[in-house]
Amino acid sequence: MKILVATGNKHKFQEITNILPRQTKKGENIDYVGLQDIGGLAMPEENGKTLQENAELKAIFAAKESGLWTIADDTGLEVEFLNGRPGVHTARYAGKEADTQANNQKLLMELEGLFLGKRSARFRTIASLATPQGQIHSFEGILNGFIGFDYRGTNGFGYDPLFIVEGSTHTLAQLSEEEKNKISHRAKAFEKLAKHLDLL
Ligand code: IMP
Repeated sequence: MKILVATGNKHKFQEITNILPRQTKKGENIDYVGLQDIGGLAMPEENGKTLQENAELKAIFAAKESGLWTIADDTGLEVEFLNGRPGVHTARYAGKEADTQANNQKLLMELEGLFLGKRSARFRTIASLATPQGQIHSFEGILNGFIGFDYRGTNGFGYDPLFIVEGSTHTLAQLSEEEKNKISHRAKAFEKLAKHLDLL
């Protein structure tokens, strides 16, 4: 059985497929392919109002186009003091062309003057599995934490140097890739999806 992981990001493909099972319960092999393996597919704009809408619209589109069972995901950073923002706008928080540095700076500015207890945040991932016939199942993974006062650590990407993991003094960027993948929002969502695939 072949499953499409609808991402063009090689790093993400690796991270996701490391979590997913290689065989179904019946012993059938599962072969994971990326967008580049099917000749590249122009994915639709992520214009949903929620993370779930975005993950599902990508999965349903790519499943229909490819004729394969398809997995897609969407992740957002939800800051309590900002009423859940940037949420669905996490990638383009500081504007359409904004880079990671600009997004992180904007976040620090919006929380300026707040003590740690007021800086609660969570990463939330929705991982969706769609069939070419349009059936869809979605799974959620959450990582709780706090937005720090400055950048710490050099690993990871995005908001990792600002995100202090709940129950720890470390930011995600101070964890090794392996440590992050054990606790991350993405890992939790995909572990749930993996259990679902295991049952096939
Ligand atoms: P995506 O839906 O996985 O593309 O994530 C959207 C945006 O959320 C990215 O551009 C990153 O800025 C941010 N993001 C997603 N996952 C993480 C993470 O694990 N650490 C830090 N930032 C992340």
